[in-house]
Amino acid sequence: MKRLTILGATGSIGLRALELVSTFPDEFTVTGLAARGSNVELIADLCRKYAPEAVALLDPAARDRLARLLPAPAPALLAGPEGLVALARDVEADVVLSALVGGAGLLPTMAAIQAGRTLALANKETLVMAGSVMTAAARARGVALLPVDSEHSAVFQCLVGHNRGDVHRILLTASGGPFREWPREKFSAITLEDALRHPTWKMGAKITIDSATLMNKGLEIIEARWLFDVRPDQVQVIVHPQSIVHSMVEYVDGAVLAQLGVADMGIPILYALTYPERRPTPAARLDLTRVGTLAFFEPDVERFPCLALARAALEQGGTAPVVLNAANEVAVAAFLDRRLRFVQIPDVIARALDAHPARALASIEECVAVDGETRRRAGELVARHAGGALS
Ligand code: NAD
Ligand code: MG
Repeated sequence: MKRLTILGATGSIGLRALELVSTFPDEFTVTGLAARGSNVELIADLCRKYAPEAVALLDPAARDRLARLLPAPAPALLAGPEGLVALARDVEADVVLSALVGGAGLLPTMAAIQAGRTLALANKETLVMAGSVMTAAARARGVALLPVDSEHSAVFQCLVGHNRGDVHRILLTASGGPFREWPREKFSAITLEDALRHPTWKMGAKITIDSATLMNKGLEIIEARWLFDVRPDQVQVIVHPQSIVHSMVEYVDGAVLAQLGVADMGIPILYALTYPERRPTPAARLDLTRVGTLAFFEPDVERFPCLALARAALEQGGTAPVVLNAANEVAVAAFLDRRLRFVQIPDVIARALDAHPARALASIEECVAVDGETRRRAGELVARHAGGALS
């Protein structure tokens, strides 16, 4: 029986993982759940269904409401950022699934690593922010970082049984998002509804917007750099609209290995939770004869500047990816709030990167400081855009 703690239990990844717990009641038990607390009824339902030992909610008022909904014996209830950290660190678990969205996951994810817990990582923003510090901590504690992101799970599966030194490059596939075929002239008219319509994956709002700007793929280049310890120039992005080939590894002898499957996050989540074993699932299976054609294209960095911004931040290194991520989070939140236009998202990020002289990243504390500083600066940039002060 594997004991799981799920950070981000009410999200798209968290709920899919909990469905898998229900599918395999003899394999998994839930010991910890964490979420923001915006849907207390849902969390109460999850507590009744999965009987965790402890629950942590970011919002203390939500914790108090949850306490009233749950009769004894209720789980231990924690709140605030420190409650999330305590849950990840102190609640016994064999695997911690890190599936909060954005920088909010940084400290709980680090706490799980420092406590020596195997980490199934969906929350890519944490690795973008603190890749060097996080992978060093994982190495020091002998903690496995198991990818949940579908592309990285694909790469991970293509690496099993091979020498890392034989890897020539990683080919990360991207669906291309809803605007793959839109001409540049139409980009200034993109609405929130247009951007939320992802062609192949159903996901949380933030990653759906990141997929539309291609920042998601930019973050994934950085994620791959740290997960697989490769040079930035060894990670190539290929647009593949069908989302069937989830990514590939090219070896020095010219052999290219790919992992394929239907677009269902259940597959990479389950692999991370059962690794190195596999389990049979009742989920939809791939029928290539029905898919018919698989197409591959170069990404267009002119229409999707976020991809180039992410690569530039990775090449600068140190604190630059922290700035990239924080400015992106602020810009995407403003776009979701209809305070910023789609084409202004890369502008906010580029200006935040320009204003920040990158330096080496020494610690998580420094990461938190640069993140906070950038959020303030990006907030000002958003306000200036909204006021028409920036074109
Ligand atoms: P989501 O928005 O559906 O869920 C996010 C979860 O985090 C929720 O449980 C929410 O309560 C919690 N949360 C949000 N902000 C928080 C905060 N400030 N403090 C504490 N908790 C907070 O997101 P998602 O789509 O499930 O994505 C989660 C992570 O997984 C992201 O990093 C995303 O990039 C990554 N990911 C998602 C998918 C997918 O298919 N959804 C695929 C690959 C990677
Ligand atoms: Mg992905």
